[in-house]
Formats: sequence, structure tokens, C-alpha cells
Amino acid sequence: MDHQLRRAALAARLSELRVDAVLVTRLPNVRYLTGFTGSNGQALVAAKETVFLTDGRYDERSRNEVPDVERVISRDGLLAPLGLQCARLGVARLGFDAHDVSVQQHERIATAMPAIELVPMGEEIERQRWAKDDEESELLRRAQAITDQAFDDVLERLSVGVTERQIVLELTSLLRRDGADGPAFDPIVAFGENAAEPHHDPGHRILEEGDVIKLDFGALCAGYHADMTRTVAFGQPLSELTKVYDIVRQAQQAGIDAVRAGVTGADVDEAARTVIEDAAYGDAFSHGLGHGVGLEIHEGPRLSHVSDDALPAGAVVTVEPGIYLPGIGGVRIEDMVEVTEDGCRVIGTSTREFLEL
Ligand code: ZN
Ligand code: ZN
Repeated sequence: MDHQLRRAALAARLSELRVDAVLVTRLPNVRYLTGFTGSNGQALVAAKETVFLTDGRYDERSRNEVPDVERVISRDGLLAPLGLQCARLGVARLGFDAHDVSVQQHERIATAMPAIELVPMGEEIERQRWAKDDEESELLRRAQAITDQAFDDVLERLSVGVTERQIVLELTSLLRRDGADGPAFDPIVAFGENAAEPHHDPGHRILEEGDVIKLDFGALCAGYHADMTRTVAFGQPLSELTKVYDIVRQAQQAGIDAVRAGVTGADVDEAARTVIEDAAYGDAFSHGLGHGVGLEIHEGPRLSHVSDDALPAGAVVTVEPGIYLPGIGGVRIEDMVEVTEDGCRVIGTSTREFLEL
């Protein structure tokens, strides 16, 4: 089972991390290692075994989702049982998700288990999650296939007079119709000048002839997030937007061409950004080029000018350059790609041509 393999990979690194066990509290990490989908659960991963701890609400769910790990169900908080398990497993140094545990929680753990040394860990498990295994790639592929289908279908629902929020509803129901658990995030739908905002909050703006339409959305499948942006024209677009579309498309292709195992996020960002800068729109590309996707919609590795994240084969990242022109509109094109040893594969199949509806 894949969860077992993931735990084994973490357990194999305990001595390198100089701990006897890791207390995993950050929920996407808990899910990655155990399959648990609830809102309160922890995994104590030691060299020879893992213990899963949760409260009474999740007894039944964890029995189904985490069948291959010893479970501890507690009605009175997880601190006491955690201490007992650490003692049983002979844990002297306990690593923890330092970016997830609050100062107050840390104090409580330290007080409850004075004999144990708490060792803050960086984003070790997040980093383990960068390269996807077969089950994860399959889920991302399924999520993207549903996203492609929804894009195809939503084009027919774009007509004069619809509002951004109506299209959000359409997208959401199309995704669910085709088997998504829901949208991966609140879809961004931006008409006309609203497309100049990279993350526009959809409102009551009505679609008019000559608008660009920016759609950024994706399906959620068994915890895995798809993320795609397409910009289309409704009627004849302004000539500057047509020009800008070509630049963004070339920038995205340059980014995709730069992706392969071993390059850094900064390298890929630069490849795409140079195209936009050379066209004198550098100031209008106001965000990083992309991000990893998986159990979280935004995860590592990051593609940005400050990212020294080296892309491993098997990582799935977005490549999403954009140019935003206040008062006029904007263009972003975003696809998820899977990193390979000598390049990458674009996962989606939606056209990147500038469609005129
Ligand atoms: Zn997106
Ligand atoms: Zn994105």
C-alpha cells in the first residue's frame, strides 16, 4: 500500500534527521502518510512502527481509512496517549512539524513529556511530497481530465448578460457532475477589466461583447488538486490583448521547455519571465511563475525568481505566466506539468490557442 511505502521512506530517514520518531501534525502530511481525511489526527512515525492518534469522533472513519496502523482513540486529548506511546517506543528525541505546532502547543507537549527532547523539523515531509508516486499522479491526471471537460462545457454557457458568479456556479456543478469531490479552490472568473487582477474575487459584473474572460479553476479528486487557467475572448478583443496573449503563450512555452529534473524554480521562472521582459511587459507580470500541486493547491517546489527549489522527477508544478493591464484586462495561461528526467509532460489537453467565442 502506498501509505505504507511513504511511511517507510520517512522512517528510513530518521537517523539522518537525528530523531527517534516524528510527530506529524500537519493534516496534509498526516493524510499523505496514513490516508486519514478528518480534521484532528496525528501520526507518530517511529523506525519500526507508526501509531495514529485521534479523538472519538473519528474512531469509525479512521478504522476505515487507516486500517494498517495501530490506532489510539482518546476522549481526553492526545497528549497523555502520545506520552505513553513515546515511552513504549523508547523515543528520546522527537521531531515535529515546526511550521505547524503553535508556541502554546509546543509548551504543552514539553510540559507533558519532560524527558523527551523536541526537535523542530523543517518541511521534511512536504519535501517528500514533491515527487508524486503512481497513485498520486493518477489522481492528479483524473482531476485534470475533469477540469479539461468542464472548460470545454463552460464555453457554451458564456453568453451576453451572465455574471461572473453565475459562471462560478456553472464551473462548480460541471466539476461535480463529472466526478470531482468539488472544486479544488473557489474558481476565479474575471470578465473584461477585472481580468487585470491576478486573483479577482468574482462578483456581479455582466459579460459584454469585447471582454476577455479569465477562468482559473480545477477539480478536487480524493484530496488531489487540479489547477488550470484559460483566458478567452468574448467577441473581438482589443488588439493589445491579442498581442499580449501571444507573449504570454510564448512565455509559458519557454517555461515549459525549461522544466526538467534538477533545474531550480528560479531557472524556470527566468526562462518565462525573460520573454515577457523582452516584450517590455515585465512590470505587468506581478507574481511567481508557478507552484507544486498535490494534496495542497499551493505546495513546493516553487517556481519564482527567489526559489532555489530543485525540481525532482515526478514533481507536478504549474507554469502560469500572466500580463495584467489595469483598466483593460489581462491574460494568464496555466497548466500543470509533470517533471521528467529530460523535460516534462503537460497533463491537461485544453487548447492554448486564443479562443474567440
Ligand atoms: Zn490557478
Ligand atoms: Zn496556480
